[in-house]
Amino acid sequence: MKCPNCTAENKDTAKGCKKCGRDLTIPPAWFPDFKWHARTLGILYVVITVFYFGVSFALRKLPKPYQFRRVPAELTPWLKKG
Ligand SMILES: [Zn+2]
Repeated sequence: MKCPNCTAENKDTAKGCKKCGRDLTIPPAWFPDFKWHARTLGILYVVITVFYFGVSFALRKLPKPYQFRRVPAELTPWLKKG
């Protein structure tokens, strides 16, 4: 088997690497590589970008906030002066 630390070839029955001394009875841990990070970050950025444009598109479809809406004067006769 290959040493997960230095890739040196060792006997399948070896308990430790003959080159670097790593304990071969412990299964190698999973360390995400650069490709994994790039792909994950790419997916995150795509999701965030799509979400941003989706939300801003949805917000543009909504009517303006009440205080910015033009209300015809005849609908608010109590605001008329005099
Ligand atoms: Zn080794």
